[in-house]
Amino acid sequence: MRNVIFLSPPGAGKGTMSEYLVKEFNYEHISTGNMLREKAKVDESIAAVMKSGALVSDDVMISLLKETLSNLDKNKPFILDGLPRTLHQAEVLDIILNDLGKRDYVVVYIDVDQNILLDRVIGRRVCPRCHKTYNCRVVEFMPKEENICDLCGQELMTRTDDNEESFTVRYQNYLDSTHPLLEYYKNLNRLKTINNNSNNQNDALLDLVGVISD
Ligand code: AMP
Repeated sequence: MRNVIFLSPPGAGKGTMSEYLVKEFNYEHISTGNMLREKAKVDESIAAVMKSGALVSDDVMISLLKETLSNLDKNKPFILDGLPRTLHQAEVLDIILNDLGKRDYVVVYIDVDQNILLDRVIGRRVCPRCHKTYNCRVVEFMPKEENICDLCGQELMTRTDDNEESFTVRYQNYLDSTHPLLEYYKNLNRLKTINNNSNNQNDALLDLVGVISD
């Protein structure tokens, strides 16, 4: 299986797709959002930036990226979920992956209609302990017991940025800074697109497996 970099607007489903790849194919999941949420528990400035929906600075992200990629498990393919989000991050990422000899990666763009994204974000619930993601508005993604994590029994929570106000900021940041990266990766011949509009993810997961195994 090839290494995967996900590009998507907020709420497109990169977290749940990553969970699937970890479970089925033993990927190592690197979620910059999850790492930052851990940091935000003790760092008020990061917590405030995230709550507003703004992007954390490139400097912080690049040092986090360097530290994480240099400690990768060499025997597993990796998923990078949440980075790059800016052109500068993409350029630095290329250099780091090249230096590490990790050149076999595919960039997967998860395409979802804008009107579906907000609904998904508003219904999202996450486990603060194991990071599994649920959705209290979508039958396929509800926990077995209301508001309790199926995997570890922890009470679920709503992310501080999963509200309409932060979503608007996050979506605009996506359009301004991240969406242009599709062209960047298309020019590098690395871009694959899958559609994830349906709440039944089976087709999207089949498409995903198709693009990461060829
Ligand atoms: P996510 O869990 O991927 O939706 O990320 C949640 C939040 O973490 C984002 O809205 C940003 O505030 C921050 N974040 C995550 N990854 C990055 C990144 N690569 N660059 C800047 N900010 C990021």
